[in-house]
Amino acid sequence: MASNQSEQDAPLDIEQIDKQHVFGTWAYQSEVSPTQVVAGDGVRFTDADGNEFLDFSGQLMCSNLGHSADKVADAVTEQVNEGAYFAPGYTTEPRARLGQKLAEVTPGNLSKTFFSTSGTEAVEAAIKIARMYTGKQKIISRYRSYHGATYGSISVTGDPRRLMAEPGIPGVIKAPDPYAYGSTLDPMESLEYIDEMLMLEGDTVAAVLVEPIVGSNGILVPPEEYLPRLKEIAHDHDALLICDEVMAGFGRTGEWFGSDVFGVTPDIMTMAKGLSGAYVPLGATIVTEEIAEHFEDNMFCHGHTYAGHPVACAAGLAAVETYQEENLIEHASEVGEYLGKQLSELADDHPSVGETRGVGLFRGIELTKDADGRVPFGQRKDKISKGSTVVDDVSSAAADNGVYVANMINTLIIAPPLPITKQDIDEAVGVLDEALVVSDDAMES
Ligand code: PMP
Repeated sequence: MASNQSEQDAPLDIEQIDKQHVFGTWAYQSEVSPTQVVAGDGVRFTDADGNEFLDFSGQLMCSNLGHSADKVADAVTEQVNEGAYFAPGYTTEPRARLGQKLAEVTPGNLSKTFFSTSGTEAVEAAIKIARMYTGKQKIISRYRSYHGATYGSISVTGDPRRLMAEPGIPGVIKAPDPYAYGSTLDPMESLEYIDEMLMLEGDTVAAVLVEPIVGSNGILVPPEEYLPRLKEIAHDHDALLICDEVMAGFGRTGEWFGSDVFGVTPDIMTMAKGLSGAYVPLGATIVTEEIAEHFEDNMFCHGHTYAGHPVACAAGLAAVETYQEENLIEHASEVGEYLGKQLSELADDHPSVGETRGVGLFRGIELTKDADGRVPFGQRKDKISKGSTVVDDVSSAAADNGVYVANMINTLIIAPPLPITKQDIDEAVGVLDEALVVSDDAMES
């Protein structure tokens, strides 16, 4: 009895319980050691030991509003109290108004949305809609891309995360991508390759699917002419252009969407992450008026229990209104330019920084073990993540000094909440300046 009592009084070891009972994502479970976080405030969050971190990556490049968006929190509470869930056959004010709002903030004649709960589901819907609309099956996507973890979206994903799911769904063809720093192919030549692929496939390709600015595969910004020309090429072959805006959307680039950076209206656009500012799970797939019209007399064969969940839509509506009311897109553009300058200056002082690149508050620092040869640091043992542990070591060094920065392959991914200030940026860049000594020291002599 006494020992039971003391067991009850002992504080729970949340990290240990979690490690035992919850899968860590994309990881050897023996290597997973989650840190318990307990609070978020503005652009910062705090762990259970009271350590505070400046969030320089917006968690998984999704907390675009930071951790104190009261309007979103209030909208969620209100909707839960008024009626948390009604079936998709009913509508609610948040759902209808968010659909209208997305038609307003997305480019061109994108007008009708299917709501889901994640980026991967948004991509699944895009693939099915493209197939239903065109009556064709094939999808061209690119190698350096990530589109989600479920079977369709992992099949169109090009990075090594796809490998264990291969051969994946039929009809997916991979194309080269615009990666000026690390590929032997010139970005615009890679486009002509896609043109040739479309020609050789005959009239069988439903859509070309791209991230307008590649996110987790290294923040790859194509030349200005790339996306407009890609749309032209796709349309010349009667294929649709799908832009996956899950990471690039909602102010990340200093524009509403990555497509806006290039003045392009895709035929289908996918969204998630910043759509709700990450307050609740929410994904969306928006299509043009022509595609929407097609489904007047052709069945829209798709749906989920939680399609258009009222609480998620209330959060989404409040999030989009917050971007507007607080002028966060303009702010991201302004501080994003400042961030870009600070990062290039940082690069000058660190031989292991091969390149810094990006737009707005969407930036990457690619590390190299040999700057002249652009040689990446070594491969991991599993090949799935294909980077090196050096980039992890740099992230850890930054975390030890109070800055959270995500990474993938050989690139540190900088994508802070949009409300970040120049002062916060100076603080984080100062910490990165020290952390990058780790990769400088790991270079080949
Ligand atoms: N598309 C892109 C461009 C992404 O970056 C991601 C997630 N990182 C996804 C799709 C999948 O989103 P989710 O993890 O919400 O399923």
